[in-house]
Amino acid sequence: MSDKAASAAIPNNLEAFWMPFTSNRQFKKAPRMFVAAKDMHYTTAEGNKVLDGTAGLWCCNAGHSRPRIVEAVQKQIAELDYAPAFQMGHPKAFELAARLAAMLPSPMDHVFFTNSGSESVDTALKIALAYQRAIGQGTRTRLIGRERGYHGVGFGGISVGGIVNNRKHFGTMLTGVDHIRHTHDPVRNAFSRGEPEHGAEFADDLIKVIQLHDPSTIAAVIVEPVAGSTGVLIPPKGYLKRLRELCTQHGILLIFDEVITGFGRIGTPFATDYFDVMPDMITTAKGITSGVIPMGAVFCTRQIYETFMTGPEHMIELFHGYTYSAHPVACAAALATLDTYEEEGLLTRAADLASYWEAAVHSLKDCPHVIDIRNLGLIGAIELESIPGEPTKRAFSAFLKAYEDGILIRTTGDIIALSPPLIISKEQIDELFGKLRKVLENNI
Ligand code: PLP
Repeated sequence: MSDKAASAAIPNNLEAFWMPFTSNRQFKKAPRMFVAAKDMHYTTAEGNKVLDGTAGLWCCNAGHSRPRIVEAVQKQIAELDYAPAFQMGHPKAFELAARLAAMLPSPMDHVFFTNSGSESVDTALKIALAYQRAIGQGTRTRLIGRERGYHGVGFGGISVGGIVNNRKHFGTMLTGVDHIRHTHDPVRNAFSRGEPEHGAEFADDLIKVIQLHDPSTIAAVIVEPVAGSTGVLIPPKGYLKRLRELCTQHGILLIFDEVITGFGRIGTPFATDYFDVMPDMITTAKGITSGVIPMGAVFCTRQIYETFMTGPEHMIELFHGYTYSAHPVACAAALATLDTYEEEGLLTRAADLASYWEAAVHSLKDCPHVIDIRNLGLIGAIELESIPGEPTKRAFSAFLKAYEDGILIRTTGDIIALSPPLIISKEQIDELFGKLRKVLENNI
């Protein structure tokens, strides 16, 4: 893009847009604008190429502007732009649900469509409550989340979530929510490669919560199999299995929030496959359409679905849904995304690249201020020592410098999180970490 075209691409007035999860004033002084994207790269308004180290926001798993997906979306808008989501259907919604069900381990074979991860989480929590009531366990109204969990920004999600800044401004949120401890244990597990050795016993926190409230009051536990937004916390070996055992033992539903781990991020289609632990529901979004069109989905077991299929047939069974649930354009995008994943083997590609990626992430161990490194599949995190009195500043400076140097990284607190599109090449992994090393060595 020429300089003239680039300056034309930046609007004169940046004021009106209140940007989400952004330091608005800092951004508007020195805007960082993307105007195009293709495969592994963004193009900035100035015409620079930026290597995408984060798959957008953990979502563009197939890379950017992939032809099959672009064509499917264009075709769908021209053919059927919208169909009412309630009491009407369209073929692609059913086709997509069936394809997703076939990808999941049995008996997880029903799909409720939403438009985002936050909506998926709220949907799963509501289904959990309604399910317990439907099976005569209506006293089970408590929801259990985990410290440092991120489940989006709806009131349900922030209530079970465990990130202080996402909660403290917003009143009392849902009542009847409790949290178990997070699993981050840098004293025992710093610089672990893959799943950390220590910490399966953190799952036993649930016993304390159960003893405190009595199991008859608890509907569901929700956790991210790998906590992403809070800085990449990999579950200790055996932790998720233990959590599953406890939930089963006490009649509590287990929900895996797979909004980032779903669709190939850790080398299997879903984290449930990787860890061989079967939850009762899975929440997804992001990679379902490779980020192209907003969409989310909640997967649940046949038993949960069947529980609702009672009463007179003309009656609605679940009083929940969104105007844009299973939107035709989103369904078309998702079907083409699944085709792309399948044709290119992307849902297992992270497994092939995992050891190369792991070596690359851990090669930064000797860089200044690095206090921990974590990885799994195509996820990596580099935790930096905070500048005394100025938390988040060191990682944010690294983010700005990295952007100038042509790589997109993401930071949360003083942690750098990396999660590139699943099409990344080994050369691009080298480029990403070569540039990141320079950033970290450059006095941030
Ligand atoms: N759950 C998890 C685990 C996430 O990582 C996210 C987003 O990053 C969400 C839920 C919320 O998704 P959305 O931003 O699409 O609402």
